[in-house]
Formats: sequence, C-alpha cells, structure tokens
Amino acid sequence: MLQKTSHFMREANYIDGEWVPADSGQTIDVNNPATGLKIGTVPKSGKAETARAIEAAERAFHSWKKTSANDRAKLLRKLHDVIMDNQDALAELLVLEQGKPMAEAKGEVGMSAAYVLWFAEEGRRVYGDVVPSPWADRRILVTREPVGVIGAITPWNFPSSMLARKIGPALAAGCTAVAKPASQTPYSGLAWGALCEEAGIPKGVVNIVTGSASEIGDELCTNPLVKKITFTGSTEVGKILLEKSASTVKKVSMELGGNAPFLVFDDADVDRAVEGAIAAKYRNSGQTCVCTNRFFVQDGIHDAFVEKLVARTNQLKVGPGLEEGTQQGPLIDDKAVEKVEELIADARAKGARIAAGGERHALGGTFFQPTVITDATPDMRFMKEEIFGPVSPIFRFAKEEDAVALANDTEFGLACYFYTSDLGRAFRVMEGLKYGLVGVNEGIITTVEAPFGGVKESGLGREGGHQGIEDYLDTKYVCIGGLGL
Ligand code: NAP
Repeated sequence: MLQKTSHFMREANYIDGEWVPADSGQTIDVNNPATGLKIGTVPKSGKAETARAIEAAERAFHSWKKTSANDRAKLLRKLHDVIMDNQDALAELLVLEQGKPMAEAKGEVGMSAAYVLWFAEEGRRVYGDVVPSPWADRRILVTREPVGVIGAITPWNFPSSMLARKIGPALAAGCTAVAKPASQTPYSGLAWGALCEEAGIPKGVVNIVTGSASEIGDELCTNPLVKKITFTGSTEVGKILLEKSASTVKKVSMELGGNAPFLVFDDADVDRAVEGAIAAKYRNSGQTCVCTNRFFVQDGIHDAFVEKLVARTNQLKVGPGLEEGTQQGPLIDDKAVEKVEELIADARAKGARIAAGGERHALGGTFFQPTVITDATPDMRFMKEEIFGPVSPIFRFAKEEDAVALANDTEFGLACYFYTSDLGRAFRVMEGLKYGLVGVNEGIITTVEAPFGGVKESGLGREGGHQGIEDYLDTKYVCIGGLGL
C-alpha cells in the first residue's frame, strides 16, 4: 500500500528546494485514523526552521515576481498536470492519514488540481486601471502587484485542497509561500513540495514546514517579511492569528468554522431534499466546515423527510476509506468521537429522540454510526457548536420567519442550504440568511469558479472565483505629472 504512495510521502520539511529535518531532530508521529496505527513521522520544527523558510521565500520572491504572468501560468498548468497524473497515489496518501473514503479523496485531489488550473488562468487577468485624470497634465494609473511572502496554515479535514486554494492564487499572483499543514495530516501538505519539484517551480517559491503550531504560527504572524497570512481552521485559532498578525499589520484571510443550517419547507421536493441532506451532512464523516449542523424542517413535510432521511442514513456503508464501497470513514481522533458523544448525550438529556445510529460503530476505533436525532430544541448544544461528526439534529418549525431567525441565531455565517419550490420564498429566504454561501435546492455547492468564504465569525476574505486572487495583490496608484500636455 505505502509502496504506491511512497514517492509523495515525504518525511522532511521542504525549505529552499531542499528536504530537511527539524533542527532538533525531533519528530511527530502520524497515525492512520482507520487503524490507529502509526504511518510514519514528520519533523517537529519550530521558529528557526520557519524563519529560514521565510528568508528563502523572500529571496525567491525577488525573481518570481518578475516572471511574466504567462510563464507562471505555464508552470501552474504543469503543476495541475502533475497532480492529475498522480491523482490515485495522492488520494491514497490522503485516505491513509485523514480517513475519508477513496472516492472523496480522489475528488479532493481533483479539486486541488482544478484550483491550480483556475488560478493559472486568473493570474493572466490581473488588470489595472487607467483613471480619467482631473488634471490636464497628469495621468493616473492603478497597478496590481504581488504582496510578497505569504504564510499559509491549513487544517486536517481537507489537507490537499485547502493548500491548493492558497498556493494556487499566491503563485499565480507572483507571491511566494511558506505553508504549515496540520500535524495530523502533514503528508498531503508535504506532497506539494514533491509536486512543485516535479512541475519545475523554482526553489524557494513554495516552502513547507511541519511541527509546533504555536511556534511556526508565531513566526509566520510576527516576521515582518511575511506580508499576508491565510488560514483555514477553527474560529478559536483564527482569532489568535488575527491578534498576532496585528503586530506587523499583515493582510489576513480567514476561512473559519461554520454552523450550517439546512431548511426544508413544506413545498420542497422531499426526495431531492433528502439526497441533498445526505451529501451536505455525511461527506467526510460530517467533518467539513460546510457540513449541515442543524436541520430545520417545516411541520407539513417533517415526518416524510425524517422517515426518508433515516432510511437513507441507515444505508450508508461505514468502513475504512480504502475499502471498496465505503461511504463514511472514521472520525479523525478519539477527541472527535468524545465530542460527538457529548453532544448526543446533551440532546438526549434535553428530550431529543435518536431515530438512527447514536452510538460508536461496531468497527471500533473512531468509527461512529451515521446518526439522526429528532425533536431537537434550541437549548441543545449543537444549536451553537460545530458537531464535526455524522449527526443530523432535526428541529421542527411552523413559520418561515421563525426558521430564518433560528438559522441566523449563531455567531457563524459560512454555508447554509434550503429547499423550496416557491420562487418568491427562494428569494426571501436567500436574502434573509446571513451567510457567505447559500445552496438553494442543492447540498454540494463548492466549485473553483465561485467565491468561497463566510461572514460574521466564519471569516474574512474569499477563496476561489475571480475574487480568490485579490488578497494576494496590493493596489498601487501612480500619478504621472509634468507631462507638459
Ligand atoms: P484548528 O485546530 O484551528 O487547526 C488548523 C491549523 O491551525 C492546523 O494546522 C493547526 O496546527 C494550526 N494551529 C493550531 N493552533 C495554532 C496556533 N496557536 N497558532 C498557529 N497555528 C495553529 O482546526 P482543525 O481542527 O484542524 O480544523 C477544523 C476547523 O477548521 C473547523 O472549525 C472547520 O470548520 C474549519 N474549517 C474551515 C474551512 C473554511 O473554509 N471556512 C475549511 C475547512 C475547515 P496543528 O495541526 O499542528 O495543531
């Protein structure tokens, strides 16, 4: 198994085009969540290695920013091709460290390649302006320039594609990068070093450091050579990074936590809503920032929706990600399972009914049964907290405005979904929901062409779409006088 992935499974930092260990020689163990067994180790690096990676990125920036957008696009297209040529091996590596089913892992790797290709093209469309001048003898130009070295910190739930959304636009814009992947899934992050090497990206343009989150994070946030921090992860850590980045007034983009509502109105197509619910809830075992956290279902359709959702949930095949036909893998670790158990216990104590699952799976380890809970009420913890597990809590509602108010009653504002066949309601509800991403009669909406990101405490900035490159660019106003016109 490891044989196939070994070329991409790197156990060293990638700094200035070299594969190097931590200065201390210390390592972190990486485990397979499906078996609990150790897969290998990666360097436990800290401040010094990060500072060297930043210096390498700064040196590389001076030549990388001078390459033409077209030349950068050619290299990024090559990077896309290298990813796609190795999609199966990269997906296998991802399953080993993260646990998701192989089909989802292949989808994620394909998405990584798609982001790289998208930004290869967007980099060629970074236009400036010639502004009508209020002065007869002066002209006004507005140009766009790469911000410089960027620091990227990514989570374990999408260890490949979250880096693609940062490395892709950074390189296309002419920036260089220092990335820190999550310690539980570092191999899919380090693989970007091997991919960049194979694609011929010059050394120092992309650097990857694994190890102590706080030491690496501190150096990235406080080193004045780093001009932008891009982070995907929890709101809690995002707030720490925002504070730290303030010391050097860096640009920041933050893709943080969610608490996605999924509203089903009486006039919805119930079968379509159930299919959307399955996709929006159980993907990656419920461990995505856009996974449904709360279902709000109107009185008239409630029982039919619950009956069908329970039937479909009970059909989901739970197993190791590499096993043929698996639809739901393990959770990432014991802590994740304990959190799910706590939330279910809290709901039970407050009067909820378990309609499907509700327990650890017979497979043991961190496998958990796909679960449906009815009679959910706003005093239950999952009204406010991200579940990050395969649990569907169902709240019942009578009036549209009550459902919208409940959906908005959270400090988060990333993704939301609703199902209706009434056009007027579709617009009313779409405009009423305070979220950055809205799925109307759709449960999976992420695509490279569209801007991804949240409002409120779900984040700042957008990734993907034509907006996704903006944060990697500075705007420069140039006033040219003395033209003697
Ligand atoms: P996390 O605990 O915030 O960790 C994310 C990354 O931050 C990891 O690389 C982690 O390193 C690092 N980190 C932790 N503490 C740090 C510190 N003090 N300074 C610098 N870096 C630090 O989040 P997670 O548990 O991996 O991911 C789940 C969260 O991500 C959920 O809340 C989910 O909603 C959110 N998410 C959001 C999006 C989005 O696009 N909005 C997408 C995916 C996930 P270590 O691994 O070494 O601890």
